Amino acid sequence: MAGTGRESGATENAGFGDLSDSEFPDFSELGDIEELGSQPGSSSGNPRKEVDPEGPWKRKREADALTPMERFHLRCLWISDLATQSWCEQQMVYGKELPDFQSAEKAAVLSAGASIHLARELELHDLVNIHTSTKEDVWAVKLLNILCMIPILQSGGTIREFPVFGEVEGVFLVGVIDELHYTSKGELELAELKTRKRPMMPLEAQKEKDRFQVSLYKCIFDAMVRGQVTSASLVHHMKLSPELLLGPQVQSHARQGGFTAKSFGDLLELTFLSLTLSDLPVIDSLKIEYSHQETDTVLGTEMVVFEEKQVRDKLRHQLKYWTGLREPQGVDVKEAWKCRMCDYAAICEWRQSGGTKTLTQEQHAKKMTK
Ligand code: SF4
Repeated sequence: MAGTGRESGATENAGFGDLSDSEFPDFSELGDIEELGSQPGSSSGNPRKEVDPEGPWKRKREADALTPMERFHLRCLWISDLATQSWCEQQMVYGKELPDFQSAEKAAVLSAGASIHLARELELHDLVNIHTSTKEDVWAVKLLNILCMIPILQSGGTIREFPVFGEVEGVFLVGVIDELHYTSKGELELAELKTRKRPMMPLEAQKEKDRFQVSLYKCIFDAMVRGQVTSASLVHHMKLSPELLLGPQVQSHARQGGFTAKSFGDLLELTFLSLTLSDLPVIDSLKIEYSHQETDTVLGTEMVVFEEKQVRDKLRHQLKYWTGLREPQGVDVKEAWKCRMCDYAAICEWRQSGGTKTLTQEQHAKKMTK
């Protein structure tokens, strides 16, 4: 499959990075974990008591008038970010606002996980580095990967790192599925790999985050093969120009794959035709495999029951934050134990206030420069 060797700055927020979006830390491994019944802050009682999630946020919105998507200059949301948001929304926001705060330990877990994913990808195919200079080129490479993988899946083969994208509730979501294969019963199965630093299965809260992630993949993949994702939606949300000519290396890579495409629009048409005419099935089952980073041994697997209503309800709630309809929230009292392993615990206003306040971005910036 092809990756991008794009010029820096050319395609900011274009949609996909070069790594699988599975490469996010397993927070439950990053500290001593006890599912304590204590609250986030030092005060007693329910930290969320008397919280009006709409009130203060409405006032802040009047002041800065930008939605988080606008403030972070996002044209789309990563499914992995939504999974992280389901762990602690406030932590995910800090991660965007203060990326340098990430601990070295967390960065090491990420790096090791990324290496294992790359090794697995290389088991199935070689990686080709393609120079790209526009965001259309970057997306073209993703579309070429999809075009190459569709026939493999149609013929019953296994594919890895399949890009997915589509609009849900007016927001464009993107992600990369680790693996798709058929079971012995002929059912299409999504397999998600999660690597762990410690040789033990994760806590229930971590599993819940992972279940949400794979369920979102299924929602979007199914919509793609049912023809419910349109090229117009991709072009609109990602602000792409179909008439733009593809770069020479991208055109050459397309030719080598047997595709004739000069402009980005040519490739869009080919991809969406291929997706809708290929008769690919929807995903039948969702499996998460947990493996130990150091020894690459499987610690266990989880079969996920797809509960569409719950997944969509949760997603709608999360998107309300991104579209500026509500304030970000930290963890609930029963999950206060998560704060013990959080990089942002020392500055977290939600935690310090017992779960009733959050800082504006400007307040964070002031705090960090003191
Ligand atoms: Fe979330 Fe707790 Fe971290 Fe605050 S300290 S960001 S509430 S996990």
